Amino acid sequence: ETPSNYHLTDRKEALKRFKPLLPYAHKGTQGHALLIGGSYGKIGAACLSVKAALKTGCGLVTAYIPKCGYEIVQTYIPEAMVITNGNKYITTIEHTIKTNAVGIGMGIGQEEETQQALFNFLKAQTQPVVIDADALNILAANKEWLTLLPEQSVITPHPKELERLMGSWDDDFDKLQKLQTLSKKHNIVIVAKDARTLVVQGNNIHINSTGNAALATGGSGDVLVGVITSLLAQGYTSNHASIFGVYLHGLTADIAVQEISAQSFTASDIIEYLGKAYKNLT
Ligand code: AMP
Ligand code: MG
Repeated sequence: ETPSNYHLTDRKEALKRFKPLLPYAHKGTQGHALLIGGSYGKIGAACLSVKAALKTGCGLVTAYIPKCGYEIVQTYIPEAMVITNGNKYITTIEHTIKTNAVGIGMGIGQEEETQQALFNFLKAQTQPVVIDADALNILAANKEWLTLLPEQSVITPHPKELERLMGSWDDDFDKLQKLQTLSKKHNIVIVAKDARTLVVQGNNIHINSTGNAALATGGSGDVLVGVITSLLAQGYTSNHASIFGVYLHGLTADIAVQEISAQSFTASDIIEYLGKAYKNLT
């Protein structure tokens, strides 16, 4: 049994971590995010995270996607730069592209070549990475690869992905113990997504206070990767990017349900409402 420090991320705690935009900022000081995702039929996952990253405020975003998504991403998000690789899915990952933060996994699938690409990428990577979705499923299927994660990487599993990674838990207490153990073992931040998302760094556990069932819709998680990767690119620490990012992501849904129904809220609306969420904090 390990000691735990519990914190509620309320408005005050979120504001403590918020970095306002400085008057002399330019796109070079606001950070460059790289988002690696998509496969045939799941290019939308990449689109959502790329647009979310831009709307969260980093200066530049590059999308790394399979060729079949080229026109789609360039049309959906003209602000993004695009690098393509493979045809229907990603087959290799260039690790020489210089950006301030990387997010990977949204809709990448689990083709053998994509798995190998992830392995080679992680082996060469030294800066923290945000890892989600199929990239987490690939790690769950090759648990020894978890040791390749750069220090202070952020993983963002939903309950099913978390179970694949660390096995099932008996109750909430057991879940917290297992999360702390996994976080300490690999020196990573775990964003355990749920109706009340937990951000775990070692013994420190932050329980988020925003968000509602309107977020129970396809693509919500892809948006969150973009948000957290954008904050990392802007110079937030991994823990702060996760705590503040999860709060901001949930706040969009809390504001939106006052204006539109929870039922018709979609992942694109999370992106749309990022502006109002920021406005709410300033
Ligand atoms: P994913 O399953 O990867 O698309 O991620 C879903 C996202 O929506 C996570 O950020 C969850 O925390 C959030 N979410 C899903 N359902 C709820 C809910 N009922 N209440 C609050 N947040 C939710
Ligand atoms: Mg997901």
